[in-house]
Amino acid sequence: MSEKFNFSKISDECIKCGKCIPGCTIHLINPDETTSPRGFIDLLGAYEKGELELDESAKDIFESCFLCTHCTDVCPNSLPTDMVIEEVRADIAKKYGIAWFKRAFFTLLRHRFLMDIMMKLGWAFKSCGFKSVENKGMVARFNLPIIKTDRLLPSLSKKSFLNKYPSKIKGKKQRVAIFIGCLANYNYTEIGDSLVEVLKALDIEIFIPKKQKCCAAPAYFTGDFYTVEVLAKQNIEYFESFFDEIDAMIIPEATCSAMIKHDWEVFFRNRGMEDWAKRARELNKKIFMATEYLYKYTNLKELLDKKGAWFDEVITYHDACHAKKVQGIEKEPRELLKSAFKIEEMSDSNRCCGFGGVTMQTEKFELAQKAGLPKAKMIEETKANIVSAECSACRMQISNSLYQNNIDVEFKNPIELIARALRDGRD
Ligand code: SF4
Ligand code: SF4
Repeated sequence: MSEKFNFSKISDECIKCGKCIPGCTIHLINPDETTSPRGFIDLLGAYEKGELELDESAKDIFESCFLCTHCTDVCPNSLPTDMVIEEVRADIAKKYGIAWFKRAFFTLLRHRFLMDIMMKLGWAFKSCGFKSVENKGMVARFNLPIIKTDRLLPSLSKKSFLNKYPSKIKGKKQRVAIFIGCLANYNYTEIGDSLVEVLKALDIEIFIPKKQKCCAAPAYFTGDFYTVEVLAKQNIEYFESFFDEIDAMIIPEATCSAMIKHDWEVFFRNRGMEDWAKRARELNKKIFMATEYLYKYTNLKELLDKKGAWFDEVITYHDACHAKKVQGIEKEPRELLKSAFKIEEMSDSNRCCGFGGVTMQTEKFELAQKAGLPKAKMIEETKANIVSAECSACRMQISNSLYQNNIDVEFKNPIELIARALRDGRD
C-alpha cells in the first residue's frame, strides 16, 4: 500500500454530492458508479482499510481513469481524485510490474541519447512499417502488439528540435528559455520551429537548454515513480544552473507545463521530500505556457494586430485539460488567435479529448476511441477548418479521432498559427 498517502482521509472528506460525475470522462462512456470519481474514492478508502484487494478487476478500474482532472476542478472540497489514482497506480505497478514496452519507453525517456538514436532509426526505417497519409502523419499498416492497426500516429522528424538549433539565438529584449516536450522534440517539430520564429519576430533572445529531459508525465500517469523521481530531480538541478540568467522558461505544451509546475511539487511533497518540493516550487515563478507568456509579457498581440493578416480558415479551440483545468489558461491563446482568425467555439471545448496516457493509448485504446468520438463530432459541427490546442497529447488523440471518423479538419498548435500570421502579414 502507498506508504505516504492517506486514501481513507480523502474518502472521508467526499460528501458524495456527485458534482464530479456528469463530466467525468470515463463515466461518460461507462456510466457505472465504480468508474466515477466518487466510486474511485470509495474503492480507494476500502483498499486502504484492507476491505478491497488490489486484484485484476480493481487494477482494471483504476487504470480506466483518464486523469482529465475534471473531478478535481469541480469538487466543492477540491478533492484531488486524479492524484490519488496516480498514487494507487504506483501500488499497481509494484504488484503487477509494468509492461515491457512501457518499461522500455520509460528507459528511453530517462536516457535522451538512447531516445535520439531510436528516433533516428525510427525515421530511417519508417517506410518499412508505416504508410504516409498526406499532411496528417502516419497510419500503422500492420498489427503491432501494442498499437492497433489503421490508426493515425505522429510522424517522426529527421532531426529533433533540440538537435536542430544552436543553444543561443540573439535578440535585444528579454531572455527566454524553451522547454519543448518530447512529442514536439521528435514528432511535431514544427511547433518548436514556429516558437523560434515568433520569438525572433519579437526580438527576444532565445536560450535552448540542450540537457533538458522529459518532464516525466507519461511515467507519472502510469505509476512508474522511479522514473518520475530521476527525471524531475535531474531537470530541477539543470534548470537551477541557468534560471538566474533567464527571464522566463516557456513551454508550448500543456501536459509538460502542468507536470513541471504542479505535479513535481505534489509528487515530492507526497513522498516527504520537502526540500525537492520547495526547489520545484521556486522554479515555477519563471515557468509559463508559451501563449500565456507571449500574451502577458510581450507585445505580440499588438504586433499581430499591426500585421493585419486575416485568414479565411475558421479555427475552433480545444481546451486541453492540463491547460484550462490545471493552469487556468484559456483566454490567452484565444486572444492571440483572434487577431488573425475567426474562432468558432465548439459546444464543449472543455470536454477531455480522451488521450488518457500511455496505458490508455495502448492496452485500453478502445476507451480512448470512445472518448474521442464526441470531441471529433463537436469539432465537425463547428465547420471549422482547423482545430487548435496547445498540447501535443491532445493533437495525437484528436487527429486520430478525426481521421478514424473521416472528418477533414487539420490540427495546429496555436504557436504555429501565430507564426503564420506574423509571416503572412504586412511588414
Ligand atoms: S480524472 Fe477524469 S476520468 Fe478520472 S475520475 Fe476524474 S473526471 Fe473521471
Ligand atoms: S464532487 Fe467531490 S465531494 Fe462531491 S462526490 Fe465528487 S469527489 Fe465527492
